[in-house]
Amino acid sequence: MHRAVSEAVRLLTAGDIVALPTETVYGLAADALNADAVAKVFEAKERPSFDPLIVHVPSKQALHDVAEVPESIKKPVIQLIERFWPGPLTIVLPKKPCVPDIVTSGMPTVAVRMSSHPIFKRISQSLGRPIAAPSANRFGSISPTSASAVKAELDGRIPLIIDGGACLHGLESTIIKIEPAEPKPLIIILRPGPIVPDDLKQYGRIQRTDKRIIDQPAEAPGQIASHYAPRTPLRLLQSPRDFIPEHGKRYALLSYRGEPRDGYVDLHDWEQVMVLSPGNGKLPEAAVRFFYVLRELDKLGVDEIIAEPLHEHGMGIAMMDRLRRAAARTTFSR
Ligand code: AMP
Ligand code: MG
Repeated sequence: MHRAVSEAVRLLTAGDIVALPTETVYGLAADALNADAVAKVFEAKERPSFDPLIVHVPSKQALHDVAEVPESIKKPVIQLIERFWPGPLTIVLPKKPCVPDIVTSGMPTVAVRMSSHPIFKRISQSLGRPIAAPSANRFGSISPTSASAVKAELDGRIPLIIDGGACLHGLESTIIKIEPAEPKPLIIILRPGPIVPDDLKQYGRIQRTDKRIIDQPAEAPGQIASHYAPRTPLRLLQSPRDFIPEHGKRYALLSYRGEPRDGYVDLHDWEQVMVLSPGNGKLPEAAVRFFYVLRELDKLGVDEIIAEPLHEHGMGIAMMDRLRRAAARTTFSR
């Protein structure tokens, strides 16, 4: 792994791009302060320029190299990074002038986090510069949680993929912004993820934005309705009664725990049932397997993937957010 790490550092220093493991999903990394390098990320991903990137810093201190921390929210910001960094929490703050416009889509703010993945950490500390790293997939498609998934998405477009095994969390970081308020600061969750509202509530009043995604554009640019989508149409059910099969169509079921008494497994003669948490309903297990299972279902060539709803607590919030976005492509294309 030594050689791979130094090769990644060499490529990044030379302004090239590299796919790296993080604790959330695999990222496509570039030197965040080099606009030409960042342009290669957009090109490889076919990502539209209005969708800004997250900047990963090599240390907590390095936050101040890329972002301003306004006095009015200094206390919660410091508390949150002390508690959750390195880890899957991204904070949106006013940007420093050194961050190129291409990274932030021309916005005055930048989204910053610090990864806890040992390989990512080593590369980012050796590089000693902030790294811009969105998920290593083509724009709008399923996020990769293994090196082979990155290969399936971007093979031939990038010079190096570092294999760090499966990602610990399996879902993208939680993105927040903080507004000063009395008696407690307001923590606005722009994208739900592995750090859940219960983890954050002692630091401020929580505001969720995820349920509004389908009807109106979210406040986070890039958090557009259709995202994380398999090529196969996906439908998210609210209850078993919602499913009326069409004659001659083939369906596969995305089930939370594969338990018949939940009412979905025996609803139909499914082409295949794939279970998120075979360990009988554990949200972190489901999260780790989430994008892998979506990818496998997409390979079946069925007419439609039917998804059971998950309970919206803990990481179930983030998975329901991703399922709604995956389903949105279907709704819009009809
Ligand atoms: P990812 O594709 O995982 O790198 O996540 C990038 C997402 O972070 C974007 O799609 C935005 O939703 C969000 N984001 C990045 N920068 C900002 C910003 N300055 N303000 C608000 N959201 C941001
Ligand atoms: Mg992404």
